[in-house]
Amino acid sequence: HRIDSSPLILLAMEDITARKQAEAEKQKQQLLEQREEFLAIASHELKTPVTSLKGYVQVLRVRFTKAGDERTAALMTTMEMQVNKLINLISELLDSTKIESGQLPWRDTQFDMDTLVQEIVEEVGRTTERHQIRIEGTISHLIYSDREHIGQVLTNLLSNAIKYSPQANTVLVKLRANADSATISVQDFGIGIAQEKQAHIFDRFFRVTDAEHETFPGLGLGLYISAEIVKRQGGRIWVESHQGEGSTFTFSIPFIPASSSETARQAETE
Ligand code: ADP
Repeated sequence: HRIDSSPLILLAMEDITARKQAEAEKQKQQLLEQREEFLAIASHELKTPVTSLKGYVQVLRVRFTKAGDERTAALMTTMEMQVNKLINLISELLDSTKIESGQLPWRDTQFDMDTLVQEIVEEVGRTTERHQIRIEGTISHLIYSDREHIGQVLTNLLSNAIKYSPQANTVLVKLRANADSATISVQDFGIGIAQEKQAHIFDRFFRVTDAEHETFPGLGLGLYISAEIVKRQGGRIWVESHQGEGSTFTFSIPFIPASSSETARQAETE
């Protein structure tokens, strides 16, 4: 038999292979779209009841405190913290689906960067008894961006710095103003990230899985969301890290005078 050397049969076989590949590709795409749709619906549907649960827990905590029932009030405080964790996880999922579909709400305002950093450092500082978060330097400059989202980036970096440095006592926040941008870095003295993993840590759902990282909870979304926010603002985010020594995450965002970015936006919509 020399049947497989016939050019006609070879052509037919190539055609079938190509069609099969295209079909498999289409199926994969459909599965990804279904996954995305499920994530969007599930996180949206979960958020409403959990948020109202938080409200009720707060009411109960206040009532038990007023009634002098400190033990139950303490239970309510623990419950509130757990509900907050749940809300944060669901919000991360929801934000990531909004980013994927290009629907992350964005509201630019002018704000003072140093004040924002101060606020977030105080807020995240309350979640740790062990760590001191020190701020070095100032930006002394107004930023025109979505204040809440820039705050979210800082919260993510600071929470990670604390989470991944369980034996350390210090986290450093360094602020610097360059000619046309602000640079903010968050340095920890924790477990660090292996060189070969560093290129992937801003990918959606990426988590380092090695002996050191195993015990830390998370979805692998914080850095992805942070990178998307910084990118949207025309900035950059990167990491320098040594395993066993610690990591420094840095992001920079350009100073855009409010008037010029508004003009740019107007030009875009025209
Ligand atoms: P997660 O919810 O898993 O913390 P992130 O997107 O914030 O998700 O981070 C992605 C991964 O990058 C983490 O799972 C962790 O392995 C690694 N990582 C992030 N920040 C640090 C850090 N400061 N030190 C060590 N590893 C880190």
